[in-house]
Amino acid sequence: MIKTLKFGGTSVGSAANMRRVAEIIVSEGARLTVLSAMSGTTDALVKISAAIRTGDSDTVHATIGMLRDKYSTCIEELLTANRTAALDRMEDALATVANEALTYRGELSDKWILAQGELLTSAIFCLHMQEAGHRAVLLSSPEFMHTDPEGKPDTAKLNRELTRLVAEGDPGVYYIAQGFICTDAEGHLSNLGRGGSDYSAALMGVAIGSDEVQIWTDIDGMHNNDPRVVDRTFPIRRMSFDEAAELAYFGAKILHPATIQPCKEAGISVRLKNSMEPQAEGTLISDAEENAMDFHAIAAKDGITVVRIASARMLMAYGFLRKVFEVFEKYRTPVDMITTSEVEVSLTIDSTCRLDDIIRELSPFGSVEVDRDNTIVCIVGCIGYQHVGLAARIFDGVKEVPIKMISYGANHRSMAILVATEHKKQTLQALNDHLFPA
Ligand code: ADP
Ligand code: ASP
Ligand code: MG
Repeated sequence: MIKTLKFGGTSVGSAANMRRVAEIIVSEGARLTVLSAMSGTTDALVKISAAIRTGDSDTVHATIGMLRDKYSTCIEELLTANRTAALDRMEDALATVANEALTYRGELSDKWILAQGELLTSAIFCLHMQEAGHRAVLLSSPEFMHTDPEGKPDTAKLNRELTRLVAEGDPGVYYIAQGFICTDAEGHLSNLGRGGSDYSAALMGVAIGSDEVQIWTDIDGMHNNDPRVVDRTFPIRRMSFDEAAELAYFGAKILHPATIQPCKEAGISVRLKNSMEPQAEGTLISDAEENAMDFHAIAAKDGITVVRIASARMLMAYGFLRKVFEVFEKYRTPVDMITTSEVEVSLTIDSTCRLDDIIRELSPFGSVEVDRDNTIVCIVGCIGYQHVGLAARIFDGVKEVPIKMISYGANHRSMAILVATEHKKQTLQALNDHLFPA
């Protein structure tokens, strides 16, 4: 069985955790392993690149110091023969970043800085595998993970290169690659977006013809609700691709939203596992039957802005919605939820970077209102229209909550409601207590 394993930041967050990851790789017989940066690294690098831009050298130096402590402690605890080489490598990367802060010449892109976390972590980890006596080879993901001008991965190139490097490579070797990072259309070091290592692993897992992609993290699988926000959540043992994709899209942080699609298309199951507790069952995501339970899980996506357009021209008109959507298309802003009435349409977006342009272009259609700081709460399950009473149960659960929008009927597996973010915790907990009683 060919397996691709991905380990997130906490899983490789210390020397002790890296040792545990090495044991998992060997016991699973992983063909390809995809690693994130040690936990906290990417946040720190984001902070450094922002501080370089604003000329805040105190923050740059304090944050570089924090990374130096973190990585040197890990290297000293983990490596012996390769310790000096690894420390030098770390110092090189940090010195390049510190030098950029000194000169402010804009020679390093933010994305170059962000990529250093995955590059350093994977290099240290691969040396550990080798010191532990395993045949491990470090791959360079930017050499085979390329994106087009829209940021879409070039899967044909990825498949070709990884077939040559890994699928037709030595089956006795553990191949180690970086998640998250890639080369953009202009040939520069870039990335697939925050949390993108899961997506890297899915694409790479498909490219080498894996039978299974395993996402190893710090929790025992997909829970029925966000465990960071809600009390009494529980892991779900099996779920369909569509359900998992819906939950990831609507905010279940355990999976990057783009992860499921490539695996679904290739028919490769995805297993979520806990690296802190490798024996725990985790969650198997496959094309299995959807769970027959009424309600399966709840997810929430923050940072949602509503754009409401009221236009008398919408009355009995056709082509109006097309014109509205063309504006969002022009500014490459995806729409999540949409509701319409006779002369109004409300839709939600999570990226507001082109909002001013969008409002300007929508204004000739009618009045445009913007409402920020909202959360989409998505309830996933077997909730087709024929199951009379399920919608009533959902609304009974949230009867104390002011609901701004409702979306149901696009499929038989989800209902989404929009609430102000200040009501998110109350909404999630109330739904949890009501739909999943102990
Ligand atoms: P990694 O660094 O391994 O990619 P992440 O922090 O991205 O890990 O994802 C794992 C975290 O996702 C968990 O620690 C948990 O707090 C959070 N999470 C949010 N929603 C869910 C959910 N529905 N099920 C499981 N974990 C969830
Ligand atoms: N290290 C990256 C991040 O923190 C990618 C990932 O962890 O998936 O966003
Ligand atoms: Mg993650």
